[in-house]
Amino acid sequence: MSAAGKRPARERGSTAGHRSGRGRPFVLNVRSLRSRPGTREEVHLAGPIADMSVSSAEVPEGAEVRFDGWIESTLGGVTVAGRVSAPWSGVCRRCLEEASGTLIAEVRELCRDPRDAALDPIGTGEEGDESYVVGADELDVEPVVRDACILELPLAPLCSESCRGLCPTCGANRNRDECLCEQEVDPRWSALAGLVSGNAEAAMKSEQAEQPRVEESDDGRPEEEDVEVEEP
Ligand SMILES: [Zn+2]
Ligand SMILES: [Zn+2]
Repeated sequence: MSAAGKRPARERGSTAGHRSGRGRPFVLNVRSLRSRPGTREEVHLAGPIADMSVSSAEVPEGAEVRFDGWIESTLGGVTVAGRVSAPWSGVCRRCLEEASGTLIAEVRELCRDPRDAALDPIGTGEEGDESYVVGADELDVEPVVRDACILELPLAPLCSESCRGLCPTCGANRNRDECLCEQEVDPRWSALAGLVSGNAEAAMKSEQAEQPRVEESDDGRPEEEDVEVEEP
C-alpha cells in the first residue's frame, strides 16, 4: 500500500481514452520516473478488474486483483515486472460443484511510448509488444495485469486435486455420498449376473423347444421344421 500516493486518483476522468466510469487503481503517474531513464520504482497495486473470464472460470466481479512488483523507465517506454494474483472461481470439471482458488502469474512487459516508436523508424515496434503503451505522464498497468490473469485462469478447474467426481452410473457426488454402484461393477457380481441371465435364456429356450412337441403330440401333426429352426 506504499504506492497509494502514486495513484492519480484526482486525475480520474481527466484523461480521455481510458475506461470511463469506475476508478482506475492500476493507473500510475510516471512523469517523474520517465524523466530519469533507468530509474526503478517499487509498486503495489490492488483493485477490481471487470470482465475477466474464460469459458471454465472467472475472476469474480469486484474481487481484488493485486500487482506487486516494479516499474522501470527504459528507452522508449516503461518496463512492468512483478507478480499478479487474483482469486478465481469456476465449476469443478469432475464433480460440477463450485471450485475456487488463487491464480498467480509472473509478468515482465515493456509498455512502449507510441510517440517514441513513431520517432524511431528503425525501432523494434514490430515485435508484437505494441499492445502495451505508456504515456508521458501516465501508465495504466491494468492491460498487463488483465492479460496475465486471463492466461492463468484454469481451463479445467478442480474443487480439489483429490476430487472423486460424480458416479457415472447414478450421478451421486462421490465426495459426499457413497452410492452402491461401485459394488455392482465388482467383477464377481458381473460374472454372477451373466450366469443368471444365461440360465434364464437357456430355460426359455428349452421351454420353447418343448412346447411344440407337446402340441405336436396333442394335435398329432409332426412339424419337425419348426424345431430345427429354433435349435441353432
Ligand atoms: Zn470436484
Ligand atoms: Zn452410483
